[in-house]
Amino acid sequence: SDRFIGREQRPEDQLDTHLRPQMLKEFVGQSKAKQNLHVFIEAAKGRNEALDHVLFAGPPGLGKTTLAQIVARELGVNFRATSGPVIAKAGDLAALLTNLEERDVLFIDEIHRLNPAVEEVLYPAMEDFQLDLIIGEGPAARSVRIDLAKFTLIGATTRTGLLTTPLRDRFGIPVRLDFYTEEELLDIVRRGARVLQVVMAEEGAREIARRSRGTPRIAGRLLRRVRDFASVAGAAMIDAKVADKALRSLDVDTRGLDALDHRYLSCIAINFGGGPVGVETIAASLSEARDGIEEVIEPFLIQLGFVNRTPRGRLLTPHAFRHLGLSVPQRPEI
Ligand code: ADP
Repeated sequence: SDRFIGREQRPEDQLDTHLRPQMLKEFVGQSKAKQNLHVFIEAAKGRNEALDHVLFAGPPGLGKTTLAQIVARELGVNFRATSGPVIAKAGDLAALLTNLEERDVLFIDEIHRLNPAVEEVLYPAMEDFQLDLIIGEGPAARSVRIDLAKFTLIGATTRTGLLTTPLRDRFGIPVRLDFYTEEELLDIVRRGARVLQVVMAEEGAREIARRSRGTPRIAGRLLRRVRDFASVAGAAMIDAKVADKALRSLDVDTRGLDALDHRYLSCIAINFGGGPVGVETIAASLSEARDGIEEVIEPFLIQLGFVNRTPRGRLLTPHAFRHLGLSVPQRPEI
């Protein structure tokens, strides 16, 4: 589906690598994470040691990959990137690890999706910078130990809770990324407009920022699509009106919710009277994967105060009913 919200990078995101902030001071928002990282990076550099392993957790598109690249650049070391599902065998991980130089950064996206055999290899690598490999098969099999360069593993995951405890415990620096404020996104949109050489009024940028679901990746995508609409319409400048018209055509509503958000909310409101309803039931009813619902759709709707996770399931709030233009059911739970 052509959603703006997705866990995956798209080729078009890669085209605009010049939109990516290069250094920590250019990275907008996440001030607490930035301050802490700055301290730990400077300390590691001062001691000439590898930075402790870092875990970034948060919904897709909030800047985990970007921050990992920035950390490597700030440390002045190589950056190698892979992702959990791509590392099929222990040997694949061994190949990556043995190619690292002292203090290099190895970035593993979606680290919660590593297969268990691969994860086993990662533990001693993270803890003791050693690899234990089994060579050969049957009675001839023997174990060899290889010393690795002292590297920094940076893992990214949508939710810390998805990691196994032994893996989670091996990260010295856990960092949670939060949704961005409208002002922060405004900064990102303005900067993007400058890079893309788009003429934009303040209120046009604000319209995009407000409707970006708290997510820089979505802000970047909306900016590019709005630019397309403006150029086809022959608009000299993107003002609030041009932006609003384009965003409407893209099915992005005034709060930044898209068609799938609407399906999710309407499903609970209409099919289940506002809930509480279990996430499995919602997933079945929408024919969507439970993971996507929990990791991509719900975090923002919860942040907006449209949905509550309760022990008995998901419950819509009066805000959500009003946003959908429905009357609020007169029930004690809601
Ligand atoms: P994640 O790894 O969390 O899915 P990315 O690091 O790939 O997210 O970021 C998605 C896009 O948003 C990238 O194009 C990136 O340049 C942009 N981006 C993310 N965070 C910021 C930020 N704080 N400031 C400016 N751009 C950002």
